[in-house]
Amino acid sequence: MTATSAKGLEVIADEPTEAPMRAKGGAPVHWRQTRTLLLADGSTTYGCVHCDYTSDNMHSIRPHLNKHRTTPAAEIEVDPLDGLTLGEIRQQLTAAAEWKARAVRAEQHLSMLRSALREVTA
Ligand SMILES: [Zn+2]
Repeated sequence: MTATSAKGLEVIADEPTEAPMRAKGGAPVHWRQTRTLLLADGSTTYGCVHCDYTSDNMHSIRPHLNKHRTTPAAEIEVDPLDGLTLGEIRQQLTAAAEWKARAVRAEQHLSMLRSALREVTA
């Protein structure tokens, strides 16, 4: 569960963290598992939605989230889209499309190299 106190101060509110990047079309992206915690003195820090881990660096929460993925796959089928906002899912789809295009180009180059090699070694 998300921290109820941080740096000796009570957490008085927590909400999803607005990511530094924007989704396609400029819509804000919210990280639901990285919480922005409002502390009793009015300052903010960041926390994990699953446990009481907190950090002043929002970017240290996402690597930390991997700790919550240790359940063996046989027990729980982890949905890679679980906990992601629509904006994050769109980003992943865009990234996947870009990787696919790169993979296709790489296969074409490999195929060209192979046929060039065949001519040299034949
Ligand atoms: Zn955690």
